[in-house]
Amino acid sequence: TKLSHATLKSFAKVHKPAYDPAELKPGIVHFGVGNFHRAHQAVYLDDLFGLGLDHDWALVGAGVRESDDRMRDILKAQDWLTTVVDQEAEHSQARITAAMIDYVTISTDEGRKALMAYLTSPDIRIVSMTITEGGYYIDPASQHFDTAHPDIVADSVNPDKPETVFGLIVQALRLRKLQGVEPFTVMSCDNIPGNGHVTEDAVVGLAKLSDPEFADWISANVAFPNSMVDRITPATGAREREIAAQEFGVDDGWPVFCESFKQWVVEDNFPNGRPALHKVGVTFSSEVSAYELMKIRILNGGHAAIAYPGGLLDIHFVHEAMEHPLIRRYLEKLTKDEIIPEVPPVPNTVLDDYRVLIDKRFANPSIGDTIRRLCLDGSNRQPKFILPTVSDRVAKGEPVTGLALVSAFWCRYCFGTTDSGALIEPNDPSWDRLVKQAKLARDNPVKWLEMEDIFGTLASSPAYAEAFSSALRRIWQDGTEKTLQLYLAGET
Ligand code: NAD
Repeated sequence: TKLSHATLKSFAKVHKPAYDPAELKPGIVHFGVGNFHRAHQAVYLDDLFGLGLDHDWALVGAGVRESDDRMRDILKAQDWLTTVVDQEAEHSQARITAAMIDYVTISTDEGRKALMAYLTSPDIRIVSMTITEGGYYIDPASQHFDTAHPDIVADSVNPDKPETVFGLIVQALRLRKLQGVEPFTVMSCDNIPGNGHVTEDAVVGLAKLSDPEFADWISANVAFPNSMVDRITPATGAREREIAAQEFGVDDGWPVFCESFKQWVVEDNFPNGRPALHKVGVTFSSEVSAYELMKIRILNGGHAAIAYPGGLLDIHFVHEAMEHPLIRRYLEKLTKDEIIPEVPPVPNTVLDDYRVLIDKRFANPSIGDTIRRLCLDGSNRQPKFILPTVSDRVAKGEPVTGLALVSAFWCRYCFGTTDSGALIEPNDPSWDRLVKQAKLARDNPVKWLEMEDIFGTLASSPAYAEAFSSALRRIWQDGTEKTLQLYLAGET
């Protein structure tokens, strides 16, 4: 049965909203309605609304990219409802969430107007976002907001017709100030260390280009809480749509699949109020950065570590990579020897227990996460998930053999063929450049490190350059499996 408000009651095999979606009122505009948002923030809110609380905090989706129109059309056809299926080895279950009540995109004037009406309304007290790591216009060399990026320059020249999320936020804040409406809180939920600070840099940095005084006002008056978010959420394909239809009887154009685990730690910095998310499992903490560093280094770093050897060995699913004894042991040794030592203590957490939990989550055979998804966008992910750990160790003179191997596998992957000679389809926004560089690096590994926007000053560390070069040479000479064996035997 096609999912809609009218058919909602007819779905027998799924959990349904314990509230009437028609009674919700908007409170949050969310940019980047991808799968993760619908598996995470929207689910927490759905839980909260289900307790009969805070019905004036419903979500309004917002999109600035062409591809968002497709998602908007699909969700609109099903009254903004989403089927969320969580899959574990032992059982899976489905629920329909109804926390979103509208979705606007800026591809038409009408959509743009509707979005600005929401963004300037006093009802909207939070603007949140999951726009991917690459969405923040960070200049990889300086690690600061890139004011010279053409999109940003365009928005600073045309502040009344912005095309980026940050341009829209600046325009809305300016109008709110003019109209005497309190500013909203801006909450990033992307996987970036210090995501609140990074977002503030982008919003304030952009405002500064056209109106430095207003930029100062934003710094002084708008809150940008940091957050750590976690729930493994693969992309949706035919397999997922089929399971939703056949196992759960829901014809959903874009269901979301995820693991059952979820975690959200947020700084409690919401001057214009917030939903009572602490009642549904969200941790409000002043130590978000500790949780964040743990997650980014161990979980996201771990994903990066298994992704490329998995890809090079033609492995399709993440759990299949975890069934490969060399890959699983590589992850364990790398995490224990080189990652955990660079993770400062986290409240109420034993780091090795966290490592074991991650190992179990990666091995979940039901979730259907793919190696290709983990391999995506290494050019944005390596500098966030792997290289900062490397820099910390290099600064202390600690060995980086296992971490250098992560980036060497990535480089080998970007050559564009697997160990068996199979072709790898483009899997990065900068794919052509990466392939070109990977080809040069085959004979001269340090060429890879010359991508200064990615490696920064690491190229000039002899210890790192040496570890990376010998790892890449080893992979080319002996292949992925033998390289892993030698690493595990302590011979590289
Ligand atoms: P997705 O591809 O399903 O959705 C990405 C969304 O971001 C889309 O709505 C897209 O239009 C938007 N977007 C991309 N680039 C943008 C830009 N430059 N400006 C504005 N919008 C942009 O991906 P997803 O699974 O929803 O993941 C999104 C982000 O969520 C990740 O990059 C990560 O930071 C965070 N996250 C994801 C997971 C996960 O397991 N999927 C887990 C934790 C955190």
